[in-house]
Parts: sequence; C-alpha cells; structure tokens
Amino acid sequence: MMSESYDFAVVGGGICGVAAACELAVYGRVVLVEREQQLAYHTTGRSAAISMESYGNAVIRKLTTWSTAFYKDADHDFFEHPAWSSRGALILSDAANQDHLIRRIDSIRQLVSTVQQVDEHTVRELAPYLAPGRWTTALYEPHAFDLDVHAIHFAYLKSLRRRGGTVLRDLAFTGAVRQGAGWTVSLSDGSRLGAGVIVNAAGAWADEVAQRSGIDPCGIKPLRRTVVLVDTAERHPHTPYIGTVDERIFIKPEATGLMVSPCDETLSAPCDAAPDELDIAIAMDRFESMTTFGRSTIRRKWAGLRTFVADRTPIVGREGQDAGFVWSAAVGGYGIQAAPAIAKLAAAAALGVPFPEDVCGAAIRPSDLSPQRCRAMAGAEHSLGAVAELT
Ligand SMILES: Cc1cc2nc3c(=O)[nH]c(=O)nc-3n(C[C@H](O)[C@H](O)[C@H](O)COP(=O)(O)OP(=O)(O)OC[C@H]3O[C@@H](n4cnc5c(N)ncnc54)[C@H](O)[C@@H]3O)c2cc1C
Repeated sequence: MMSESYDFAVVGGGICGVAAACELAVYGRVVLVEREQQLAYHTTGRSAAISMESYGNAVIRKLTTWSTAFYKDADHDFFEHPAWSSRGALILSDAANQDHLIRRIDSIRQLVSTVQQVDEHTVRELAPYLAPGRWTTALYEPHAFDLDVHAIHFAYLKSLRRRGGTVLRDLAFTGAVRQGAGWTVSLSDGSRLGAGVIVNAAGAWADEVAQRSGIDPCGIKPLRRTVVLVDTAERHPHTPYIGTVDERIFIKPEATGLMVSPCDETLSAPCDAAPDELDIAIAMDRFESMTTFGRSTIRRKWAGLRTFVADRTPIVGREGQDAGFVWSAAVGGYGIQAAPAIAKLAAAAALGVPFPEDVCGAAIRPSDLSPQRCRAMAGAEHSLGAVAELT
C-alpha cells in the first residue's frame, strides 16, 4: 500500500543524507529513510572530526574551503553549539619524503595561502611529545580545526524538521521502481512511498541502493580505518593534529587522551565495521616509536568505513537528465569537513539546476563529480595514498 508521496526521498541518515535533506526541505516535501535506529550510527559517528583545507585533491580542497567559511560564519540559529574549535595540523616528513612534501605544499598554497613549511625545531615546539631526530620538515596548517560532528549533524537534522521534513528510522530502503515521472519506493516493513527524486546518501551501501533502483553501481570501495583512544601519562590537549606525509599514522589530541590511527585502508564489504587486532597493534607500535610516552594504554577502539571511488573524489550528481536519481556518496575521509558544500551540490542536482557558482567557482565541473565518470574509471586500480592526494 502506498502511504505518502514526497518530492524527495533521501536514503541514509549520516551527514550526507541529513545535510542534503535539510537543503531540499526548503523546496519541497522531503522524507529521510535510515535503516538504523540511531542516525549517524555508521561512518559519520566514527570520524576523527578534523577539518584540513590542505587535505585531499583539488576538488576536495575547494569543497572544504567553501565549507570552512560555512562552519565558521554560520549564524548561531543554525548551530546551537559551535561547530568548530581551533586545532592546527602538522603533516610530518622525514628526509626520504621531503621532496614529496614540498611539492604538496606548493600545490596546496594556490588555494590555502596560510599553509607553511616548518623546520624540525618548530615541529618540536608545536608537538613536544614527538621523539626527536626523525622529522626534518612539516606542512603546518595553523587554521585546521576540530569539528563537533554531533553538533553539525544535529543542526542539519533540527533544520530539516523545522522545514517540515519527515525522518523515518529503523526502516530500510529495499528497492524502487520508476513509475511515470517519479518512483515507488519500498521499505523494509512492507510499506511504500512515492518520490519524485531519490537521493542516494547510503554511504558504504550506496552501490547497493543504486542497484535496488535498477541503476548501475559506481564501483564504490568501503575501506576500513581503525582508531584507538590512548591514555598517556601527560596530556597535550592543545597541540596540533599530527599526520605523516606517507599516511602511516595520525594522532589527534582529545580531552580524554590521544586519538591514534595507523591510517589503514582495508577493503571491506558494507558492514558495521569493527577494529582488527593487528591494526590496533600496528597503531600502538607506530605511536610508541614516534613519541616519548613509552608504553601507553588503550581506553577505547573503533573502526569505520571510508568509501571511495578510484579518483578519490565524491559522487555528487544526477544519474542522467531524467532519471530522478541523485548520488551524494563516496565522500571518503572528507565527508564532514566538506559536508556543507556537498549538500548544496546534491540539492542542486536534485532540483535539476546548475551547481552554485560560489561553491564550485572555476575549480569544479559537474563532470568531476558525476556518477558517469566513475563507470569510465571502472576497473581502474584504487590509488591508495598520497599520489591521489596531490592532484
Ligand atoms: C576513522 C575515520 C576517521 C574519519 N575522519 C574524518 C575527519 O577527520 N574529517 C572528515 O571530514 N571526515 C572524516 N571521516 C569521513 C567521514 O566520517 C565520512 O566521509 C562521512 O561520515 C560519510 O558520511 P555518509 O553520510 O556518506 O555515510 P554514513 O555516515 O555511513 O551514512 C550512511 C547511512 O546510510 C544508511 N543506509 C545504508 N543503506 C540503507 C538502506 N538500504 N536504507 C536506509 N538506510 C541505509 C546507513 O545505515 C548509514 O547510516 C572519517 C571516517 C572514519 C571512518
């Protein structure tokens, strides 16, 4: 039995889903469908919550720069609690990777003028707990900031509701068939609803949602990443986020300890990701060998799926002109920091209007983000790591 009809049905209650739904609720009737009882249960609830304008390829950097202004300038009616707080970020390099880092700094400076190259001495001043003698230089991004993911997700959800949007939890999208100009969407309780446009924001399950709608997959790869929260004798809560240019570890100070990841990228089926003991051991080994803390204890551990296509650029766009199916997926390790921009683009695609000029400028063409370009890349090797980040 068909219950209600909506202009837009958004699948997925992570950051991509709630942000797109919130944008669209200004223009029509929106329903958001989430399989879990708890919204943001999967990748969105498991992030490291840092925003770095120097991170990712040129498209990501442009989306992040626009989103940074949104986070920092948004009026307080939108964010009940501040969405961000100061942090700074250091990306370290040893002698072997120095040329690589310098090239990266040169390419990033075109968009992010505040990025600097700093020497070993400055690295030690900024992060005194790092073991001496290993890091010859670093990229320093002083304005990198912590994101309050809960506050951001909640702000979008609250605005979605204020704009009249409907949120269905504990109900999965099980399939959709095209009927006339719209869709009949089936849900896991046997009910159906009508929708003019489907927005696919299903994270690691986005290819599955497409296929259940009769649409070709884009070749999305969920890659598991492990995080441990480490208890150390000394706390350094005001030191920067630390990464390495070869992406072997990140360390992020938190009020309750240090968040550490071995930056693993293990291909996974879409699932409720759990940390692997070997990845935890690698994280601790790298952490203990590059810091002066000695043996440390693990307070918490978790894992999440970062989803990518081969060029490590999100999929945001319409599936053909008339299909009424829009993707907002494959947002990788940037989905929170770039969420406001991605939501604007997903909404434009769902409305069938051009991408907003202020979000994209000359830097982003719709084809850079289109689902069609993913199929052209089909079979391409997943380029893990720094090479793709540089472009
Ligand atoms: C360890 C780690 C660290 C990270 N650090 C950062 C960081 O510092 N900064 C940053 O910006 N990003 C970071 N990220 C990435 C960021 O978390 C993701 O890019 C973002 O959360 C992805 O959001 P999403 O909405 O696409 O996916 P998700 O949050 O996974 O949401 C997708 C939702 O779709 C639902 N769904 C799937 N199938 C169906 C269906 N059939 N019916 C109904 N619902 C369905 C799922 O249940 C899920 O809730 C990190 C990720 C990880 C794992």
